Parts: sequence; C-alpha cells; structure tokens
Amino acid sequence: MASTLIFGATLLTVDSEDRVLDDGWISFVDGRISGVGTASSRPASAEFDEALDFNGKLVMPGFVNAHTHAAMVLFRGRAEGQSLLTMEGWRNAIREPELAMLPEDVGPAVDLSCAEMLLSGTTTFCEQYFFAEDIADAIGRSGMRAVVAYGVVQLGDEQKGREEMAKAIAFLERQRTAGGRVIPWLGPHAPYVDNSEDLLREETAVATRYGVGLHLHMAAGPEDNEETMARYGLTATAALERDGFFQARVHAAHCLDLSDDDIAIFARAPQASVAHCASASLRSGRKGICPVRALREAGVVVAIGTDNVAANNSYDMIAEMRVAGLLAGHREGVAQVISSRDLIRMATIEGARALGLEDEIGSLEPGKAADIIAIDLDAPGYSDCPDIAALLVYSGSGRDVRDVWIGGERLLSDRRLTRRAYAEIRADYRRGYRAFWNRVDARRAAA
Ligand SMILES: [Zn+2]
Repeated sequence: MASTLIFGATLLTVDSEDRVLDDGWISFVDGRISGVGTASSRPASAEFDEALDFNGKLVMPGFVNAHTHAAMVLFRGRAEGQSLLTMEGWRNAIREPELAMLPEDVGPAVDLSCAEMLLSGTTTFCEQYFFAEDIADAIGRSGMRAVVAYGVVQLGDEQKGREEMAKAIAFLERQRTAGGRVIPWLGPHAPYVDNSEDLLREETAVATRYGVGLHLHMAAGPEDNEETMARYGLTATAALERDGFFQARVHAAHCLDLSDDDIAIFARAPQASVAHCASASLRSGRKGICPVRALREAGVVVAIGTDNVAANNSYDMIAEMRVAGLLAGHREGVAQVISSRDLIRMATIEGARALGLEDEIGSLEPGKAADIIAIDLDAPGYSDCPDIAALLVYSGSGRDVRDVWIGGERLLSDRRLTRRAYAEIRADYRRGYRAFWNRVDARRAAA
C-alpha cells in the first residue's frame, strides 16, 4: 500500500465550500485521497511511506483541459494569418497537410503534448481527433487521464461515414475494458458541416447505448449556423436538439454564436456542457465570443480548454484561465465578471463535471483520485497577498508547476518527468515532425 503525506502547503481544495487551507496537509493511499486538513489535525509522518514538506507551495487539483487535439502539436506555428474557426482557414492550414498524416506520426506528437500538459499542471484532458487508437496508446504511456472522442469526419462520403462508425464502435468496445485512464467517447467533428443528419442520429444512438459522451465543435465557425439556417431555418444547436442529440451527454467546444434560445437548449439538456477556448477564439479573429456569463447564469457547466496548439499555441491552463477571465470582462463590460475563484473552478471541477468525472477528480476531497499538482509560490509573480486565486490566475504560469500526481503516481517530480525524460520525448517528436512535413511537401510537389 503506497501512502503519501504532503504538509506545510497552501491547499486550494476547490471543494463545495471552496476552502483554502493555510499550512494544510493532504494524504493519499493507493491512488486515492485519504485526508485533507490543517496543521492541528495533521497525522504523524511516520504513518506514511513518504512525507513531503511542501512549505511555500500551492497544492491543488490538477487542471482539466476541456478541449484539445493533441496530435496537432505537429501544426504549431503553422497557422499564422489563418482563422482556424472558419472552414476556409481550417482547410488551408490544417486539412490539406493533414491528408498526408500517417498513424506513426501521431504517437511522438501526442507524447510531446502530454509532456507539455504535465509540465504545466494538466492531469486530465478531453481529446478529439482521428487515429484515436494511437492517441490512446500515447496517453497510456504518459500516465495521464483523458477522454478520447473518436473523431468522425464524413465530408459528404456516406460509405466513409459507415466505415468510421464501425471503427468508432470497435474503439469504444476495446477502451471500455482496457482498464487504463483513457475514457472513450465519440467525436462528431462539426455537425451538418461534415457529419450528415443520419450519421448524427446514429452517433447519438451509439453514445446512448454505450453510455459515453459526444464531444464536438459547436457554433465555432460561421458555417455551423449558416448550413442549418439554409437547410432548416434553425441554428445548429436547435437542429441538433430536433435530431435528439441532446438526449446523450454533449460536451461542445467553442460555442461562439449561441442565441438566447440556444443557451436555453443547453440549460434544459440533461448533460450538456461547453468547453470555452478563449485564446483560440481571439486568435481566430471571429467576432462572436462565447457567452460564458449567460451560460453560467442559466446553469450550464462551462469548462476551459486550450483547443489545439496550432490555434492557441500553448497548453498552459493558467494562461487560459487568465484569457478567459479577460475576455469575459471585455465582452460584458464588467471588471472581472467571472471571479478568479470561479475561473479556477471552471479549469478543475467544472471540467470534471463536463466529462462526467466530478465524483472522481476535480477537487481535493477524500475518496477522489489523487490527481494533485504543486505550484512554487516562491517563483516570480506571487507576492504575499492572501488572495491566492487572484495571484494564480492573473500572475501565475504553468511553468511554476513543480509536481504532478495522477492516481497517486508522481509523474512530475520537481519539474522532472518521471516516466520518460522530456529531452527524449522532444528528440522523437523532432524526428517525427521532419518526416511528416517532408511527406506534406512531397505530396504538394506531386499535386
Ligand atoms: Zn477543436
């Protein structure tokens, strides 16, 4: 039985009372949190296999990155001047080179993405892409926890849609019983734009049958609503509701152009949530901004995601909380319309809730999985102000994260990855990157 006690730290519990404990302690046994408290109730160090004095550190639940495409680290920096939230920008910067991608490109790229996420304090992420099997393998190597939504892109090809669904079902079957930290979902890429009405109905039926969620892009590009308005006189959200989509668990990324009626659809759906990707939104140049305040006031779960790092270009969830806070204040014309505490909740427990994992992760509470991070409060950017949430969100950085545990396993130890050295992961990625882009160039030359 492996047991650990961390003491002397400032604990940001993100529990239902949002308790912050000075001189706090947390213990975990066999991967689960066994106790949380302050100095007066601290158990004896001798009762544990290891006892760590974390004085000067902030200890909190790991971040949940609610939307990304980890293999797309291959495209980082390659989308300058393109709006990735329009079909045209996506086709130019991503889809065209993506056609040269092979399964062997995916592993080293996802390895690097997982390393970067761990190094900035993310312990769980929500992934959607093709090559789901290869992605799941890489996540397994990293030790991270992730929802992997099998990406389905049909683009008018019915036969392809059928084949993809068969593969997606095989993926659900395999991953359900694999016993790892990967949770399989389905990922219709962009409803109606590249997934037909029939395919969407089938995806909903399969998700319901397997009890898994649907992770998709919604109201991200102007085409989403244009397409359904032209066809049915409905917004994409309303069309999806008409087609029964919201009977399943729905986790929708972006949601830039939601009407009041669309927000009401999210609010009355049994399990609908939004992944707000503020940096990707700003970088796309799109005028629409996700109505985070209205969604939250309507009772909708809003989580925070980085989106792919061609659109962002960073996995830093602390930076992403900051941008989300700034953008919401700007949109509403109200200073800090979302508090720092709430931004932290969105990046942790609300992310867990969006993925149906709120009983398992997202806060420091006994019984939950020990997904824990420690941040160096002696690093530049943290003064002695007692409002630790405001310091973290508005002057912190993912680079201040020193330690990460997932399921009680220490995956980052004083900024050193424990399973595999970062330099090795980076070297493999570099080789894969060259091979991929050489293939893209050869394909372009032959066209
Ligand atoms: Zn996306």
